[in-house]
Amino acid sequence: MTASSVDVAIIGGGPAGLTAGLYAARGGLSALCIERITPGGQLAQTHLIENYPGFPGGAEGWKLAYDMQQQAQDFGMQVCADDVQAVDLTADPKRIKAASGNEYLARSVVIATGARPRHLGVPGEEELAGKGVSYCATCDGNFFKDKVAVVVGGGNTAAGDALYLARICKKVYLVHRRNSLRATKIYHDNLQATPNVEFVWNAITQRIVAGDDGTVAAIEVEDQETGRLRTIDCSAVFVAVGLIPNTDFLYGSIDLDEGGYVISDERCETKVPGVFAAGDVRSKTLRQVVTAVADGAQAAERAAEYLAI
Ligand code: NAP
Repeated sequence: MTASSVDVAIIGGGPAGLTAGLYAARGGLSALCIERITPGGQLAQTHLIENYPGFPGGAEGWKLAYDMQQQAQDFGMQVCADDVQAVDLTADPKRIKAASGNEYLARSVVIATGARPRHLGVPGEEELAGKGVSYCATCDGNFFKDKVAVVVGGGNTAAGDALYLARICKKVYLVHRRNSLRATKIYHDNLQATPNVEFVWNAITQRIVAGDDGTVAAIEVEDQETGRLRTIDCSAVFVAVGLIPNTDFLYGSIDLDEGGYVISDERCETKVPGVFAAGDVRSKTLRQVVTAVADGAQAAERAAEYLAI
C-alpha cells in the first residue's frame, strides 16, 4: 500500500525523532514518525537519566520517552510501526519502503534511527543471547536478582549498567579492556564507592561459557599484560561496548562517515535537499538525550524552511 504524502516523515522514534515530530506538528506540518518497535529508542531502555535538565534526582527513561511521544502526538504527530528497508531520497516526493510492504511518501525526511548495541563477537555470545547474555541491563537486570553479573565495556553505558545492576545483583564485575574508564568521572567515583562492584582491568573477553542448563555460567577473560586467563563465574553477561548506527537501509542514498553515521552540518542538513539527520545516527561528537532533542528541533525547523521554499 502507498500512503498519501506527508510534509515530514521521521524515520525513528527516539528522543531526536519525537522532538522533530513535536516541532514539525506544532509548526503546522503533517508529520509521520515511522518506528520499528515502540517509540523511545535507547532512552526507553535507560533506567535513569541524570543529566537531562529539569529533572533533579534523574528522569526515568521509559517515562521520559512516553511523555515525549505523548506531547508530539498531542500536537498531531502520527506514529506508525514499521521497519524501513529502503529509501529513494531524490524522488519527489521522497519514497520510504518498509518491511510490511507499505510505501510512505514525504516531501522531506528526518533520519533519526539512532544506533544499536555492538556485539563482542566472541564464542558463546550469540548462542547464549537471551540465556544470560543481554544488551540491556534495565530490560533484563531483574532476572538476575541476587546473582552475579558481569558488565563488559568502559563507556557511560557500561558504567551506568554496572551501577544499576549493583542495586539488584549480589555482585557485579566490570570487565574493561583498558585500565581506566572512558565513562564520565562521576560514574567512576560512584562505582568506586559501590562495594559490590569489582573492576577487572586490562581484560579481553575470550568467550562466554554455558552451564549444563544451557544458560550463562561464566565468562573467560585474558589479562592483556600477563596473558593469564581468568574465569569469572556468573549468571549474566551484559555487553555494553558501544553502538553501531542504524543506517543499513541508507547505503548508497546518502553520505555516511567511516563509522556508518550520517554526515550532516550543524543545521542537521545532509547533502540531499530535504533530508535531515538527527540524534545518535548523525556524525557528531556528543551523543546524549539533550543533544538528540536539540537535533530533532533543528531538523524539523530546517525541514519547515525547506518546505516553504
Ligand atoms: P562508548 O562510549 O563508545 O564506549 C564503548 C566502550 O566499549 C569503550 O570503553 C570501549 O573501549 C569498549 N569497547 C568497544 N569495543 C569493544 C570490544 N570489542 N571489546 C571490549 N570493549 C570494547 O559507548 P556507550 O557507552 O554505549 O555510549 C554510547 C554513547 O552514548 C556515548 O556517546 C555516551 O557518552 C552516550 N551515553 C551517555 C550516557 C549519559 O551521559 N548518562 C549514558 C549512556 C550512554 P575503549 O575505551 O578501550 O575504546
